[in-house]
Amino acid sequence: MPGRFSGKVAIITGSSFGIGRETAVLFAKEGAKVTVTGRSEERLQGTKKALLDAKVPESNFIIVPADITTPSGQDNLISNTLERFGKIDILVNNAGASIPDSQKRTGVKQGIETYEKVMRLNVQSVIEMTQKVRPHLAKTKGDIVNVSSIVALKAGWAHAPYYPLAKAALDQYTRSAAIDLIHEGIRVNTVNPGIVETGFHGQATGLSEDASKKFYDDMGSNRNAIPCGFSGRPDHIAKAIAFLADRDTSEYIVGQNIIADGGTSLVLGIHTQFPRQTEKL
Ligand code: NDP
Repeated sequence: MPGRFSGKVAIITGSSFGIGRETAVLFAKEGAKVTVTGRSEERLQGTKKALLDAKVPESNFIIVPADITTPSGQDNLISNTLERFGKIDILVNNAGASIPDSQKRTGVKQGIETYEKVMRLNVQSVIEMTQKVRPHLAKTKGDIVNVSSIVALKAGWAHAPYYPLAKAALDQYTRSAAIDLIHEGIRVNTVNPGIVETGFHGQATGLSEDASKKFYDDMGSNRNAIPCGFSGRPDHIAKAIAFLADRDTSEYIVGQNIIADGGTSLVLGIHTQFPRQTEKL
């Protein structure tokens, strides 16, 4: 398909659902060959359907089931991509989650095993994928986009401290990797979403479909939480990822963050005492 990513090959992790699925469809519609991945066969089939519904030819994507936290999953992803498409131009490190504590502990009582799982998924897998894909991106002068979160910014998160810790580490890794890898012609940048309607506050955290919908509706109608007045959609984030993955639109941006949160990170608790900050626009 002709488009700004014509001739490009992209690996998009966590593309069996949510932001990753939307990004895979957007990239493929704009000409990229994409590698779609995640653990759930059923969810991967959902992305396949979304790609076919968008009239993306089957020859332009592959589906590789893989757990991104395992070395074998990472290696399969890369070797299958190279075998099918011959090169890698773009890596989107999107897979991530706030993994609940197995014993339902909260705050500083959450176990070290929860910390390890959260760091392994949100930080270590990104470091490992960056190391493994680097030689291929150096050949193509490629681009990496990491998906972080506004929880990485300067606010405390009492309920589940390890996910914000992991995303803050990811932001700092992005900066360090960016000034290292730019010497090889590889750019690294980050998108930090706010609340986005996906499986994040749903299946990933054990919420039912109804409870998840209510969460996003309540958040979206509360301008103290989201000043723009609605929860984000996956396409809002996919478009920001595409902007950073496209050299034409963002060549001079290196190691930076785009915050896409409808204004959430600009609201302080104290603003609720000053109604004009949060009244309907
Ligand atoms: P979803 O839960 O909808 O999707 C998460 C994706 O990550 C799925 O495709 C899931 O695939 C994949 N994934 C999770 N764990 C693994 C694993 N071990 N191995 C391989 N794939 C895995 O969430 P979002 O789309 O919202 O999340 C995408 C990114 O956006 C994450 O990094 C998240 O932290 C970030 N984010 C999301 C926000 C939101 O409000 N939605 C806010 C801020 C940041 P499968 O289940 O098939 O393994």
